[in-house]
Amino acid sequence: MATSKLKLGRYSIGTGDRFAHQAKAQLQACVKALESGIEVVPVWNKSNREHTIIGSEPTSTRQAADAAVKALNWKLPYYCDADHITIQTVDRFLAPCDFFTIDVADFIGQPAEPAHIEAFVNRHPELLGSIELAGIDQPFDITREILTGTAHKFLAAVKKAGEVYRKVEHAKGAGNFIPEVSMDETDRAQSPVELLIILAAIADEGIPVQTIAPKFSGRFNKGVDYVGHVAQFEREMALDVAAIAYAVRQYGLPDDLKLSVHSGSDKFSIYPAIYATMQSTGAGVHLKTAGTTWLEELIGLAEAGGDGLALAKEIYAEALAHLEELCAPYATVIDIDPARLPSADEVRKWTSVQYTSALRHVEGAPAYNDSVRQLLHVGFKIAAKMGPRYIDLLEANEPVIAKNVTENLFDRHIAPVFLGRSI
Ligand SMILES: [Zn+2]
Repeated sequence: MATSKLKLGRYSIGTGDRFAHQAKAQLQACVKALESGIEVVPVWNKSNREHTIIGSEPTSTRQAADAAVKALNWKLPYYCDADHITIQTVDRFLAPCDFFTIDVADFIGQPAEPAHIEAFVNRHPELLGSIELAGIDQPFDITREILTGTAHKFLAAVKKAGEVYRKVEHAKGAGNFIPEVSMDETDRAQSPVELLIILAAIADEGIPVQTIAPKFSGRFNKGVDYVGHVAQFEREMALDVAAIAYAVRQYGLPDDLKLSVHSGSDKFSIYPAIYATMQSTGAGVHLKTAGTTWLEELIGLAEAGGDGLALAKEIYAEALAHLEELCAPYATVIDIDPARLPSADEVRKWTSVQYTSALRHVEGAPAYNDSVRQLLHVGFKIAAKMGPRYIDLLEANEPVIAKNVTENLFDRHIAPVFLGRSI
């Protein structure tokens, strides 16, 4: 398989910048990481869905990233991620992006052609029987039935990924972009055994995948903590990492292939497990976050008081009034308890501190309200509709917003995941 000219590196963080105003504050968090002795490569990700809701173009993400890199004199790599693209939506991302998250979750479970399944199973006798993985006490035992069943479930999706990969490769040239394959936006988690079989199929398609985003067990809701069994997650991650290491050796996949953790923001309870697994195995991780920065914009505006606080309250009132419409596209990744949502009248009386302490994600803080947080997380459409009214206030309150954006990304994400610090 062709080796890429572009390398993502061991540690990388995907950051979302909905309104293309925080790239510098986000990059500042990576600068702080560097000052603490680790290289964390920034990747600005924005999905087609987010661009469509906001009415922005992928070129704006690229421009903001380039400007931030220039302003802070960042010398390490950085990337722009066409997040969750498909064959239908990839076109406008081709020029400005150099990282492509190929989303084939919709094709999982679609039956592959029987001849393809048979060819795949016959091509991979090495997957049958007992497979010993380095550092793992229990081998993977794969029967022909398991192999065929997994191919049946995932082969069509992987073939689709190959189609999208080749379209991007045709436009950009091999090795000029980082390919990720994502399967996280689906109902059922993929097991480590399935991940290994999927990687064999990805290698067959000739995709030099550098990151793979499986769906892990447990819930990865937007902007709030992990819901599930942390010990189970840790076990699953260790098995996934071992499966990846095996697939790299066996199938010649890029040697820096690593897991990508989607909806990775605010998953505080599993960060120690991610850090520990990376320490014990030498593996890296791509931690993908997106909406957490937009919430820091709201926190900064509220903290600023005056017009900023008033606008933050107005956004809450509007979001509450359009609850169903805003939540619909994110139904599978949010769990809002309507009973915990204060009325717009109540919020109108809030002080800066009341607003920021309801929204800022400090686990265990008495005023923290994860329903308010999730509602506002999906409420960026309201701010997008306000247009210049919102943007002007972002610009007027840049210092206080930037401080919150950097702190959130560094203290609550980079430091616990990549430096092992407690939050
Ligand atoms: Zn995702």
